[in-house]
Amino acid sequence: MNADFDFLLAGGGHSHLGVLRQWASRDRPAGRIGLVSAEPHAWYSGMMPGLVAEHYQTRDCRVGLPKLCAAAEVEFIQGTLVALLPETPELLLATGETLRSTWLSLNLGSLPWLPEQTDDGMELLSVKPFADFIRRWQQWQEIPEAVGIVGGGAAGIELALAVAGRVPAIDLFCSDELLAGHPPRLRRLALRHLQDAKVHVHEHTPIQTVHGNTLIGEGQVRWRGRRLIVATGPSPLGWLRESGLRVDGRGFIEICPSLQSRSHPHVFASGDCASLPGAVHNGVHAVRQARVLATNLARVSIGQPLRHYHPQARSLALLADGQRGALLSWGGVAVEGRTLGDLKEHLDRRFVRRHSAES
Ligand SMILES: Cc1cc2nc3c(=O)[nH]c(=O)nc-3n(C[C@H](O)[C@H](O)[C@H](O)COP(=O)(O)OP(=O)(O)OC[C@H]3O[C@@H](n4cnc5c(N)ncnc54)[C@H](O)[C@@H]3O)c2cc1C
Repeated sequence: MNADFDFLLAGGGHSHLGVLRQWASRDRPAGRIGLVSAEPHAWYSGMMPGLVAEHYQTRDCRVGLPKLCAAAEVEFIQGTLVALLPETPELLLATGETLRSTWLSLNLGSLPWLPEQTDDGMELLSVKPFADFIRRWQQWQEIPEAVGIVGGGAAGIELALAVAGRVPAIDLFCSDELLAGHPPRLRRLALRHLQDAKVHVHEHTPIQTVHGNTLIGEGQVRWRGRRLIVATGPSPLGWLRESGLRVDGRGFIEICPSLQSRSHPHVFASGDCASLPGAVHNGVHAVRQARVLATNLARVSIGQPLRHYHPQARSLALLADGQRGALLSWGGVAVEGRTLGDLKEHLDRRFVRRHSAES
C-alpha cells in the first residue's frame, strides 16, 4: 500500500463518525484521505448498558466503518496504531507498517484506569475497548458469578443496573461519592435504583490493587471475588501520551479551540484523547466537536480561517436505569422516568441510524 496521504483520520471515534457523515454529503477536502481503526465498527457508548441489559442487539449499537468511509471517499485501513511521530506526522501500525500524512486527526478515545494486579487470581474486564468488553461479558454470562464493579460515574452505575439480575451479586466501588460533579439529587435517585436492584454500593472506597481474589483499597481487603468490571474514568493511551505532542498533567493531548494540537498545528485531536478547557471527557463533546473538525480539516489545507469549538457549560446526561427508563441531569436539575428512557432510546438509535444511513 502507498503510505502517503493528504489526511489521515486515526480512530473511528464519535467525532470522526460525524466528520465522515459531513464529508459524505459536503465539504470533503480534496486529496487522498485514510481512516485507521483497530476495529471495523464504531461502537456507540450510550447504548452499551442497553446491550448488556439485552434491550438491544449488537447490530443496533455500532456503525460499520468501511461503508461510511466509502460514502465519504475515504480509504478504510484496519489496524492497531502503536506509535506516532508528530513532526512528520507519521503513524506506526502494530504490523510494522508506517503511514504518513500532511494533516492528521486523532480521535482515539481513552481507556479506563486499571488497578494494579499482582497475579491472575481475578479476571479484570475493562469496559473499553467495547468489542472486547462485549465478547468477554457474553462469555461470563455462560456461567454467571458475582461481580465487582469499580467506578461510580455514569458508566459504572449504568452497567451495574444493566448487570443486575444477571449475576448472583454485585458490589460497586467508588472512590468518592457516586456521580460526583452531577446534581446531588441525581446521586439520590441513582442510589435508590441501585438499592432496588440489590447492588451493594461502597462509596468513598478507592481501590488500588487486585491481589489474588481480593480487591485492596487503602491497605484493606474490600471485596473477594473472581470477576471485576473496570469502569473507572478515562485515562490516556500510553503510546499517545509518549508521542511528543504537548499533553496536560494527566497525559491528554492539549488542543486549541480550533481542535489543533497546541504543539503541532498540523495535528488535530478531538474526543476523549484531547484536552480542552471546559470540555470534560464524554461522548457529548466528542460528538459536538465533529462539525468544527470536519470544517477545519477542509479549511486548513486551503489556508482559510478556522472555526472554534466552544464547549457548552452544561451537557445533558441521560443514564439508563436498566429497566428501559432513564435518569436525566441537566444543570442542577435531575429527574427520572420511563418516558426519559424512551427519549434516550430515540436519541441513541437516531445517532446510529444517521451514521449508518450513508453506509
Ligand atoms: C459504558 C459506557 C457508557 C457511556 N455512556 C455515555 C453516554 O451516555 N453519554 C456520553 O456522553 N458519554 C458516555 N460514555 C463516555 C464515552 O464512551 C466517551 O466519552 C466517548 O466514547 C469518547 O468518544 P471518542 O470519540 O473520543 O472515542 P471512542 O468513541 O472511544 O472511539 C475511539 C476509537 O479509536 C479506536 N482506537 C483506539 N485505540 C486505537 C489504536 N491503538 N489503533 C487504532 N484504533 C484505535 C477505537 O477502535 C475506536 O474506534 C460512556 C462510557 C462508557 C464506558
